[in-house]
Amino acid sequence: MRGTRTNVDVGGVLHAGRELAVREDVGVPDFASYRFAAPADASLVIRRLGRGIVMRGTIEVEAEGECARCLDDVRLPLHLDVHETIEPAGEREDPLGESNVLSGDELDLQDLVRQLIDSALPYVLVCSENCRGLCTDCGLKRDGACRCPHPE
Ligand SMILES: [Zn+2]
Ligand SMILES: [Zn+2]
Repeated sequence: MRGTRTNVDVGGVLHAGRELAVREDVGVPDFASYRFAAPADASLVIRRLGRGIVMRGTIEVEAEGECARCLDDVRLPLHLDVHETIEPAGEREDPLGESNVLSGDELDLQDLVRQLIDSALPYVLVCSENCRGLCTDCGLKRDGACRCPHPE
């Protein structure tokens, strides 16, 4: 993962109305109980909209975490369809704070991608909707090593 910020100069979009295509590997910092072993693959087209920008495209990333029930490692591939409008910083109060990713002509691509991924992650990660978690008697997986008799 790259520790540097991935800033994109969108001056040509904002001032000349040019379209900008961006394809970047964007490092994603760990978030809550999620880890990201590989950078996100962000493919975006940026256009001017009013005094801000609008971007469309996709973000591909694989989140890794623990099943909330059985604690197994879970890999969660995410495919995000992006359609975001971003106003220049200071234009208005944005409760989501997304406007702060655009400062002058600089778009903080890493922060934007991080926010989009964070909002797409499930609140509770499970390996399977049917996961029955850990046995309260032996502590092993109820669907796996546990051999305790369980009245169903
Ligand atoms: Zn599980
Ligand atoms: Zn058991």
